[in-house]
Amino acid sequence: MNACAASGRMAAVVLAMGGLGLGLFLLGGRRATPLPVVRCPIHGIAYDAELEVCPDCAKMDAVGGKGGAR
Ligand SMILES: [Zn+2]
Repeated sequence: MNACAASGRMAAVVLAMGGLGLGLFLLGGRRATPLPVVRCPIHGIAYDAELEVCPDCAKMDAVGGKGGAR
């Protein structure tokens, strides 16, 4: 007679465990996906992959690294 109630409680525990696992999985998945980073071969610094050049390269370019454009 009590077997039915016991199994119902077990199902509830399993559901709770599943929800906890899913939450941990989502948290872990979010933490496991790092930002896309590229390393500049010239300066050796890591920068956001969305940028076309590293901050130092952009600085050099702004200063006038191209030359001849006087
Ligand atoms: Zn650079």
